[in-house]
Amino acid sequence: MSESIEKIKCLIIGSGPAGYTAAIYAARANMFPVLYQGEQPGGQLTTTNEVENFPGYPDGITGPDMMIELQKQAERFGTDVRHGWVTKVDFSGDVHKAWINNETEIHADTIIISTGASAIYLGLPSEQKYLKLGGGVSACAICDGFFYRNQDVVIVGAGDSACEEAHYLSKLCKKVTMLVRRDEFRASKIMQDRVKNTVNIEILYNTETEEVLGDGQVVTGVRVKNNITGKLKEIPATGFFVAIGHKPNTEIFKDFLELDKTGYIVNKPGSAKTNIPGVFVSGDAADHVYRQAITAAGTGCMAALDAERYLAATDSTFEVSTSTYN
Ligand code: NDP
Repeated sequence: MSESIEKIKCLIIGSGPAGYTAAIYAARANMFPVLYQGEQPGGQLTTTNEVENFPGYPDGITGPDMMIELQKQAERFGTDVRHGWVTKVDFSGDVHKAWINNETEIHADTIIISTGASAIYLGLPSEQKYLKLGGGVSACAICDGFFYRNQDVVIVGAGDSACEEAHYLSKLCKKVTMLVRRDEFRASKIMQDRVKNTVNIEILYNTETEEVLGDGQVVTGVRVKNNITGKLKEIPATGFFVAIGHKPNTEIFKDFLELDKTGYIVNKPGSAKTNIPGVFVSGDAADHVYRQAITAAGTGCMAALDAERYLAATDSTFEVSTSTYN
């Protein structure tokens, strides 16, 4: 083994609520975790303004502040939090290998994958501008819908997520305009029926977003185009929701781990175990259904407990902590 290879008990990949929760538990269980933050330290929550649905914050907290607190809590118990990006893994042998920034090689007894998923956006400059400003563009109705109560919003997408989110928004907002780019939905019939039967949801078929309009600070409307007639129309709105899918950040694992057809890591039911012993998954990388900070945190805890049990069974030098189960 070359001297530059670092050998550790537990490598955590990703710094969202799943990764930091796994780190808190792993550090308290004497696993001396090393956590690599990845490309977007703090994960998806850093693009969210106010988080009001995470238990324990009665007055709400901003996404970035919550991630700073979680990082502090993980570091308090000894987690080694590092900047860096895991660029390659090799789970083919007994040793779990990972490379950081294509350079440093790490051999870890256990690996907890918390790489999350990324919302797909349209990519329009105006959409990205108001997303970065926190001025009314969102890819999560459950997270942000509450800020638009009694207001008019627009949502793009025609899959199950878009229908679910449009229906959720319809209960809070005055009016929801749904932009469907074809003349039909992709969503299941039951989900389509739900939006079609909701009085304050208007569906515009064959309609694409031209530009998100705003006053330089916040969204004020959306300019759309009918892709059959070419006709343009401006829809007044204070919120622009994008629900055109998510991409799990699992590309580097695909040669070793079982993924479902959309790229999410398959975990053994009721656990954080993957098909490779010693490699565990938590958070959105394995969850296309709930995708919440609190569910990510819950599965982060599960992953650390599963990793601790794995170490206890495979490493005679590992001292099982008692605090974990208190
Ligand atoms: P999907 O990939 O199913 O749907 C994406 C939708 O976005 C499609 O309607 C697509 O249009 C549209 N779209 C993509 N790109 C653009 C664009 N540039 N402009 C406008 N529209 C665009 O993603 P979902 O997130 O909806 O669902 C992912 C998976 O999760 C699915 O398997 C779904 O069934 C499942 N799911 C299940 C739920 C449930 O059962 N309760 C809830 C949520 C998700 P087009 O159709 O024209 O391609």
